[in-house]
Amino acid sequence: MALIAILPGDGIGPEVTGEAQRVLEALDLDLHFEQAPVGGAAYRAAGHPLPPETLSLARRADAVLFGAVGDPEFDRLDRGLRPEQAILGLRRELKLFANLRPARVFPGLEDLSALRPEVAGAIDLLIVRETNGDVYFGEKGTRVTPAGLRQGYDLMAYDEVEVARIARVGFEAARGRRGRLCSVDKANVLETSQLWRDVVIEAAADYPDVTLSHMYVDNAAMQMVRSPGQFDVIVTGNLFGDILSDQASMCAGSIGMLPSATLSADGKGLYEPIHGSAPDIAGQGRANPCAAILSAAMLLRHSLRQPEAADRIEVAVIAAVANGMRTADLGGEASTRAMGDAVLARL
Ligand code: ATP
Ligand code: MG
Repeated sequence: MALIAILPGDGIGPEVTGEAQRVLEALDLDLHFEQAPVGGAAYRAAGHPLPPETLSLARRADAVLFGAVGDPEFDRLDRGLRPEQAILGLRRELKLFANLRPARVFPGLEDLSALRPEVAGAIDLLIVRETNGDVYFGEKGTRVTPAGLRQGYDLMAYDEVEVARIARVGFEAARGRRGRLCSVDKANVLETSQLWRDVVIEAAADYPDVTLSHMYVDNAAMQMVRSPGQFDVIVTGNLFGDILSDQASMCAGSIGMLPSATLSADGKGLYEPIHGSAPDIAGQGRANPCAAILSAAMLLRHSLRQPEAADRIEVAVIAAVANGMRTADLGGEASTRAMGDAVLARL
């Protein structure tokens, strides 16, 4: 039996994770659920956005299904107590280092894509982004140059162990998809990228069934817009992945449809929609639960090793949307519950 921690959080978080849990329960998979507050909801209940009980549940669980955190009521709190700190704390405590962001255009939703209609339907890619290293975590500071100028600096650094473990996540993901991995770097100018490329090539020896290619990040940004269908899985560092994954989301369009995963080395993970708590529509039953439902599918695929069950959920979501089920973000009037029902009906 697998334990799944449900951390609904704030705003529309409880509404969308509720639908995702209903979908998981319908699969008959011997799952056990435990729920705990996080974010503003936890601050209200326990005085901290990530209370010890919530953290210990997340640690005990095989995987975490997370809603969203963020509550305008707490915007003026001390930084360490703001709802957003909860997700940073979970990433740190659970040692999550690999962020997976799929981006695809669902049949019938092509016009929500920022891409030209001829190419929009072709986007179906997964970005695997390293999240514990790179310029965000290197030595940094401000100093004064010999010429008396203020200078800011952030060291970009990756060691071979860090690169090898994210490369493996990329290869594994490609193996479960269309078998193509594109490693994105800037090896023509960066030492970090030279090492990155060497280590990815070394790791490829264990994955003869995956086709590996390399691309400079500037070209990758261009190609994603020009002909996105060429990409299956992209593996890249923290900085490039940050930018490319937001670009990919816009290429796909609908914020209410896109899930994400962040994994640790032991296969545990935290699964959440890419959207936030959407305070403007919270409590109205209008949020699109598909991103949370698809996050639950990723949870089955990556932490519980149940790819068939994950496929079933994804196929059901695609069918519900293709049949015309539309929440407000997709230009319709269906409720959160109605969308959840439509997915359940097609499972
Ligand atoms: P955060 O800082 O937490 O990422 P944000 O301010 O960037 O939050 P979101 O909370 O993602 O933004 O909301 C952005 C817009 O998208 C809002 O207008 C919100 O109503 C809408 N939105 C977000 N998620 C959904 C959803 N699941 N269904 C419908 N609309 C959504
Ligand atoms: Mg945001």
